[in-house]
Amino acid sequence: MRAWIVDRPGPIATGPVRRVERDLPVPGPGEVRVRVSCCGVCRTDLHLAEGDLAPRRYGVVPGHEVVGVVDAVGPGTSRLGVGTRVGVPWLGSTDGSCRFCASGRENLCLSPTFTGWDVDGGYADACLVDERFAYELPAGLDDEAAAPLLCAGIIGYRALTTSGVRPGGRLGIYGFGGSAHLTAQLALALGMRVHVLTRGEGNQRLALELGCHSAGPADGTPPEPLDGSILFAPAGELVPVALRALDRGGTLAVAGIWLSDVPVLDYERELFQERVLRSVTANTRADGEAFLRLAVEHGVRATTVPYAMADADRALDDLAHGRFSGAAVLHNG
Ligand SMILES: [Zn+2]
Ligand SMILES: [Zn+2]
Repeated sequence: MRAWIVDRPGPIATGPVRRVERDLPVPGPGEVRVRVSCCGVCRTDLHLAEGDLAPRRYGVVPGHEVVGVVDAVGPGTSRLGVGTRVGVPWLGSTDGSCRFCASGRENLCLSPTFTGWDVDGGYADACLVDERFAYELPAGLDDEAAAPLLCAGIIGYRALTTSGVRPGGRLGIYGFGGSAHLTAQLALALGMRVHVLTRGEGNQRLALELGCHSAGPADGTPPEPLDGSILFAPAGELVPVALRALDRGGTLAVAGIWLSDVPVLDYERELFQERVLRSVTANTRADGEAFLRLAVEHGVRATTVPYAMADADRALDDLAHGRFSGAAVLHNG
């Protein structure tokens, strides 16, 4: 089969990913093989390609927003039969036994594996997945629409939950890429007032088109104090900016897996009055199931930009340079 690998991590202009020929993988115990129909491009893939996220092993295949159909099953599988349409997410497996797994917090598992980082992902013709960690996809969702929901959507949902904003409350969203525009739609459907702070007029326009209540520059001031915010932009310098825009008791949830350095915080202006700064780390399967249900119920739709799988390098380059709004999805022809 054909597969993209992270060959020499570095700036995207240096060509860190390469397409190679590989043997079709054979599912082991508990695994199924997924024939990939499409795979979303996540910013994490770019961080991995560029070396911001240290590779766990040489030659890993990126991609953790995988949509496809099971075409082979390993020994001992029972949940997903051949022909089932599934989504393969970031969380590839957990140990099921550590103190975090035992307390309903498998997103903090001490020995997890992640798709497209520890184990090969979906920038390929096929990939393997532990059947317990794949999602069966509802029929009302086509392949291209489903792909960005699997990481961008689920992580955004967990960040939204972490921000503590309730229906009717005021939510700030900093940065407006793939994850943010899905989260904004869900927040609006849940009756929140949504203020988007992002660079780029295209992104601001998209936010307003989706029904957000305001859109302005990333370092601007929202028109009202916020009950909670989500920082999607990987820009640590926005942390104090976003904290200052919170109302008393508000929470800033940092959604990214990578963030540039956070400047020194001013306790009085940025943290006092019980403002909370929290990160969001991966997600549980329960988050994923809940989000996919809500996404179908409320018609949460990604704005997608299709690319051929053969053009994965160009899609990453376009993502690095902010050449599109929404989410890129790679298609096998
Ligand atoms: Zn991702
Ligand atoms: Zn665990």
